[in-house]
Amino acid sequence: MARGRDYEMSSQAAAPHPDPPRARGEDMRAAFVEIANVTHAYGGQEGAPAVDRLSLAIAEGEFAAVVGPSGCGKSTLMKLVTGLQFPQAGDIRVGGQKVVGPLKIAGMAFQAPNLLPWRRTLENILLPLEIVQPHRRRLRSERAAYIAKVEALLAQVGLGGMGDKFPWELSGGMQQRASLCRALIHEPQLLMLDEPFGALDSFTREELWCVMRDLHASRKVTILLVTHDLREAAFLADRIFCMSSRPGRIIAERKVKLPRPRDLDITCAGEFTDLVHDLRLQIASARQAPCA
Ligand code: ADP
Repeated sequence: MARGRDYEMSSQAAAPHPDPPRARGEDMRAAFVEIANVTHAYGGQEGAPAVDRLSLAIAEGEFAAVVGPSGCGKSTLMKLVTGLQFPQAGDIRVGGQKVVGPLKIAGMAFQAPNLLPWRRTLENILLPLEIVQPHRRRLRSERAAYIAKVEALLAQVGLGGMGDKFPWELSGGMQQRASLCRALIHEPQLLMLDEPFGALDSFTREELWCVMRDLHASRKVTILLVTHDLREAAFLADRIFCMSSRPGRIIAERKVKLPRPRDLDITCAGEFTDLVHDLRLQIASARQAPCA
């Protein structure tokens, strides 16, 4: 039975909110990501919605996780927040600005590291800087400084001195560490993680949780993590949002009050396993009863 001592519960009905921008995920800090009553259907208004009247807010510097059954619209939510898709209804703001195109202030990492095999690790990590201004302009004249930044990031994720390796010389976990460096090299204010550790074995995954925990603590970046791994969400997040089956909507929110810094031993604590159990119940009921 969940005790609710080290995390707060606030189960929420799936009804639309009259004042949605700060209705969910409200925090004493200002909201950095605000998703208000968003509906999106692939194929336009005629299509069946992938997400429906979805609302949540994430505070600046917060580590938020979204969990939900497969196909509930988690990746769609990521695309909407980063401006790769646009909702048919509702409003999305990041840093107070309405999202009207691909977000420059976001970094992204996915389940597949997607490193270019013909580029060395260092050159893979530099890639976003060749695209995003003002780095693109500065890269030629300040290349040494940028390379020093890459090397510092590599050291921070445990890949010190590996910049000259090609991706195929790295293990899966090392490639994913490099992909995190690539997502962070332009110092994004928002880091979007879509199942980034889903393809890794459980030991490597837990190592990377610790890497992610330390990156968040040292960089104060706002993070939105989509995952189907409830332990991962409980270990890393400040707040966890549960989505319904398609069409996706936020049906519950859990504030994780486990103390930081968290180490892996915390995954054996009763408060942690209670939280994971509670999340599992939420997902099970979401799978059985899609939102009307
Ligand atoms: P999740 O990440 O939770 O598994 P997705 O956001 O990928 O879910 O997908 C939500 C729903 O939208 C699914 O039913 C999926 O089949 C559908 N969908 C996703 N991408 C597209 C697309 N490009 N075109 C049409 N349907 C899509």
